[in-house]
Amino acid sequence: MEYEAVIGLEVHLHLKTKSKAFCGCSTEFGSQPNSQVCPVCLGFPGSLPVLNKLALDYAIKVGLALNCRIQEYTKFDRKHYYYPDLPKNYQISQYDLPLSKDGFLDIYVNGASKHIRIRRAHLEEDAGKLIHRQDLSLVDFNRTGIPLLEIVTEPDINSPEEAHEYLVDLKSIIEYLDVSDCDMEKGSLRCDANISIRPKGASGLGVKTELKNMNSFKGVRDALSYEIERQVKLLSEGDKVVQETRLWDAKDLKTFSMRTKEEAKDYRYFPDPDLPPFIIKQEKINEIKKSIPELPKEKCQRFMREYGLTEYEAGILVSNKNKADYAEERLKTWPGKDKKPVVNWLIGPLTAIAASSNLEISEIKISVADFLELVDLVENKQVISNLTGKSVLEEMVSTGKSPSLIIQGKNLAQISDEGALEKEIAAVIKENAKSVEDFKAGKAGALMFLVGQVMKKTKGKANPKVVQDMLKRRL
Ligand code: ADP
Ligand code: MG
Ligand code: ZN
Repeated sequence: MEYEAVIGLEVHLHLKTKSKAFCGCSTEFGSQPNSQVCPVCLGFPGSLPVLNKLALDYAIKVGLALNCRIQEYTKFDRKHYYYPDLPKNYQISQYDLPLSKDGFLDIYVNGASKHIRIRRAHLEEDAGKLIHRQDLSLVDFNRTGIPLLEIVTEPDINSPEEAHEYLVDLKSIIEYLDVSDCDMEKGSLRCDANISIRPKGASGLGVKTELKNMNSFKGVRDALSYEIERQVKLLSEGDKVVQETRLWDAKDLKTFSMRTKEEAKDYRYFPDPDLPPFIIKQEKINEIKKSIPELPKEKCQRFMREYGLTEYEAGILVSNKNKADYAEERLKTWPGKDKKPVVNWLIGPLTAIAASSNLEISEIKISVADFLELVDLVENKQVISNLTGKSVLEEMVSTGKSPSLIIQGKNLAQISDEGALEKEIAAVIKENAKSVEDFKAGKAGALMFLVGQVMKKTKGKANPKVVQDMLKRRL
């Protein structure tokens, strides 16, 4: 039987506020353990939480960007469970009245658009962190109380690739909104993946497992692929999938069972009596709406419209806001109507140079003027070849010199003057009688070979277009 996967993702996002969700403690990452704590986040009796207004604003901003309805009336609930990293023995979360509901994110996978519904996005607080040593475990409460936004999809995702794309797009939007670091390594973005399978075309839902402990988007994709295979094997052999939480082991590339009997969980939710319900006014929502910048999808469309980019090119450039701004400054400043040369240099050589140092192009410090001058020297003026242009660009990056200075200093300018190429052309024709014949017999490849020979003789400095023209005329 053929099966299809059904996936729902839960993303937890640290909101980038300076202080915690319900107290004034710092949220700074990497400080001395337990140095950023107070009676409120440690849950001392008698202490009272007060909501961080910025956390609420950020949460609303994300909800709006994900096309959610922002609830006019929202409240916080206590979610009870017992664990050493949870000093209050309950987490402040939102149960039946989440801040945002019923949104969606449209993603593109393999050239097709896919609508992923977002069930809810609610505000809660993070728990602490356990550090396990050989014979003891330590607890760090610095993370306790950091504002978290939990974004939950409907089970609308049907493959590991779609899950991956959803995460990439979500992260890109959040980065544009500038409300979270989205750093999985630091734990400021975490993703749990719920997955079941069902016979292809069926409409009901199968028994799901919940996967945790993935620390990269690739990890999520790999864990899902593994889990699909595991579940298909179980069902094909007449076994059953057990509802459970499984942990991803990034070393062995496997999931293993952490705990079963999920249905036994009872959090005893009830409204937190220490926090009043909130009424979110329409004016407030409108005000936050206005602060949302142009998001990646709109920017992609605009780049295609205004600069004539393909969807692929625009997609690469808008994937991160700094990169998009960097690219746009250069596209806008380029005087020509045809922006292709600039796009090609941005997503070709410049991206390659950046990638070799593990950077984004926006982190490469070449002035707009120098960059565009290089593109002009190669593409319009043909003072240097494409290949030379790439090495000049590398030198611009490492030395900060202007392209013309580098070209002069190393005498790199191409020879485009026909007079200066006469001698080499004549020699190549004489030395390659066979190829000359082939060319005359209509073999186009022979011409490229002859051009190559002239390039060799001039150590790559001849202008290949000029050489080609001259050869054609001669022959
Ligand atoms: P809760 O965790 O509050 O019990 P659910 O388990 O219904 O809520 O949903 C958690 C996540 O799991 C959601 O993203 C949802 O889309 C997804 N999900 C629920 N049921 C299934 C299923 N049978 N297969 C795959 N994903 C599921
Ligand atoms: Mg949950
Ligand atoms: Zn505190």
